[in-house]
Amino acid sequence: MKVITDYLKSLILIELFKGMALTGKYLFKKKITVQYPEEKTPLSPRFRGLHALRRYPNGEERCIACKLCEAVCPALAITIESEQRADGSRRTKRYDIDLTKCIFCGFCEESCPVDSIVETHIFEYHGEERGDLYMTKEKLLAIGDKYEKEIAANRAADARYR
Ligand code: SF4
Ligand code: SF4
Repeated sequence: MKVITDYLKSLILIELFKGMALTGKYLFKKKITVQYPEEKTPLSPRFRGLHALRRYPNGEERCIACKLCEAVCPALAITIESEQRADGSRRTKRYDIDLTKCIFCGFCEESCPVDSIVETHIFEYHGEERGDLYMTKEKLLAIGDKYEKEIAANRAADARYR
């Protein structure tokens, strides 16, 4: 019996009309398609994109080379080497993040006691050559310097949600 019903349904193109009815239902409704990249959807202050290392307003690096981020990273993507400066403070001489290993979990950001390593809103980046996605301290500091205003605003907004 089912075979006959299915045959009759296919004969009168019922599935086709059902599909057309669904299309017609949304034809004059407000469009929700975003014309990326001209249009962008809003991002949460907690969005986890490209990493950055931050400085204090006086230009000093925030990172104190405590290596908590390196220890907590589940992907073993962070490599840090530290040294003692002439003034006795401890700073990194090497701070690398291999983005090909990173899973953007945000643990490094969460673990940092001085708000140094953060994940920015930047998600439009790519690498064309081997090593392009290997982020050195210099690259991370340059991103932090460039986007500090936005990073600070997002940190403040995030703190309001907590
Ligand atoms: S986001 Fe997660 S995986 Fe990526 S570097 Fe930080 S701790 Fe490691
Ligand atoms: S980025 Fe933060 S958690 Fe990582 S070594 Fe520097 S101070 Fe410590």
